[in-house]
Amino acid sequence: MIFGAHESVAGGLHRAIALAGEDRCEAVQIFTKVSGQWREPALSAEQIAAFRAARAAWAGAGRTLAHASYLINLCADDAAILERSREALFQELARCDALGIDFVVFHPGAPRSLGEEVGLDRIGESLSIVLSRAEGLRAQLCIENTAGQGSTLGDRVDQIAAMIDRAGPEGSRLGVCVDTQHAFAAGHDLRSEAGYERFWSDFGRLLGLERLRCMHMNDSKAGLGQRLDRHERIGDGEMGLAPFWRLANDARLARVPAVIELPPLSKERRGYMEEIARLRALEGAAEPVTLPGAAPGPPSRPPRGSPSRSPRRRAG
Ligand SMILES: [Zn+2]
Ligand SMILES: [Zn+2]
Repeated sequence: MIFGAHESVAGGLHRAIALAGEDRCEAVQIFTKVSGQWREPALSAEQIAAFRAARAAWAGAGRTLAHASYLINLCADDAAILERSREALFQELARCDALGIDFVVFHPGAPRSLGEEVGLDRIGESLSIVLSRAEGLRAQLCIENTAGQGSTLGDRVDQIAAMIDRAGPEGSRLGVCVDTQHAFAAGHDLRSEAGYERFWSDFGRLLGLERLRCMHMNDSKAGLGQRLDRHERIGDGEMGLAPFWRLANDARLARVPAVIELPPLSKERRGYMEEIARLRALEGAAEPVTLPGAAPGPPSRPPRGSPSRSPRRRAG
């Protein structure tokens, strides 16, 4: 995998790229606006030029992601919020295109009393509208899987497939971002070999692995299937290191950018560097010991031959 982190834009969007370089990131995610507000900032030519220059100077230059506002709800039961959400997602996409950002990750939405079917229809319609308007933009929209908290949709792979399907012909331009914590809290046990393979085989069958554009690497404060969106630092939560070891050694995911989202603990900002080093150290390493309390999985084979690092590759 190509490891990186969500970096702060304090001091300007271009500062996040400088921080990514300091943290030895090979991928980076940012917010292009205040994520909890509707206000859409217009970017100046100077801001765009500074961001593009920082990216060109970034030694580890890799994929760039932006996380859209958390307020966006593409299946809102309120007409004004639905309209605002579609506008906000389009504006995010337009800003990212101007900045040269590759992927715009967003949470699809929560239909509340409308229910799943109407919710999925509405998300498909919203995506079709936004994508039609965004014709010609290179930045790509990526649906993020969710923990399924409340009435939130997108915790199941088949729901994500339905959203893409219901977006019509425009749906072919959609990508997917998998968040490990959301998947785990939604009930996908990525700790055991069987659970891990089941998740990716469903993903391959219903979406196709080529839809996977990027990942969020987070451990979980919430237990398996608790449907709570609660991130924890890698290796410190309910998931432990096993899922991250599987991901780091999965040849199918070798080119996928994967960012840590939780801000580092220390003020000196060494947190990301340490966490990224921890992830990189899993590549080619023996399977981490399962901690007491973690679900017993079937015994796993150690990675075969380190140069190829492909212990998880399966036919089909
Ligand atoms: Zn997210
Ligand atoms: Zn995430």
